[in-house]
Amino acid sequence: MDTDPRAYSYPQDVLRDRIILITGASDGIGHALALRAASLGAQVILHGRTVAKLEQVYDEIEALDGAPRPSIAVLDLASANGDAYRALADGLANEFGRLDGLVLNASIIGDRYSIEQYDAATWQKVMHVNVTSAFALTQVCLPMLHESDDASVIFTSSSVGRTGRAFWGAYAVSKFATEGLSQVLADEHRHGNIRVNCINPGATRTKMRLEAFPGEDRDALKRPEEILATYIFLLGPDSQGVTGQSFDAQ
Ligand code: NAP
Repeated sequence: MDTDPRAYSYPQDVLRDRIILITGASDGIGHALALRAASLGAQVILHGRTVAKLEQVYDEIEALDGAPRPSIAVLDLASANGDAYRALADGLANEFGRLDGLVLNASIIGDRYSIEQYDAATWQKVMHVNVTSAFALTQVCLPMLHESDDASVIFTSSSVGRTGRAFWGAYAVSKFATEGLSQVLADEHRHGNIRVNCINPGATRTKMRLEAFPGEDRDALKRPEEILATYIFLLGPDSQGVTGQSFDAQ
């Protein structure tokens, strides 16, 4: 890799004709990425659980000059069963036939307690939404990713998913697991058409960050729109052959 992906500069049609599913596209980083990807020519599938918020993102993309019309895929990752994942994938396969990008971005933060005090039900929910749902969605999307000439899967990590830190509980452990899932999948597809990488967005001005650090100076944080270069690099043609890596977006 010659250039730092954080400084990646790209032509305005770098994602043209690519079909990209983004989870958690209703807010925060997923929302910003959906808008940017659409503005760069991608046909974006907006996943989330809150229909009204997804429809708002849909309208924002429709208002962009020349952006392909997006689609909406509603699935609550906390409660969806296997049939719901298969139904979502069948719907996408019928409509699009392939996927060129899968961005597993949706997550929840859970509680900021010590392990000793951590609520077991919250632990399970965080692990389920952040890890098991990413596994389940990836599994049902793989046949569509195989149909692409140049597919990219991006998992979303965190700095607490690389070095454990007190009071980050299930969230930190789920991000370690996410890094592991990304590496296993990358190794399984080492010789194929699918590259698999992880991005740690770093401290970013979103509702999750506000939940984690209610007292901090939000103006000092990067906005989601400012951290997207690594995502665009990994989703576009210039990252062919880059796989099994974990990047910092900042
Ligand atoms: P965010 O603003 O809270 O957005 C989270 C997204 O996930 C929203 O679209 C949310 O939907 C969706 N989501 C949550 N639970 C869901 C469920 N059960 N089913 C379906 N969708 C669900 O978070 P963010 O800060 O943009 O974070 C994006 C990713 O970056 C996460 O993986 C996070 O761990 C990671 N990250 C963020 C930071 C940071 O500083 N922001 C730092 C490191 C890593 P609703 O809109 O319906 O709530």
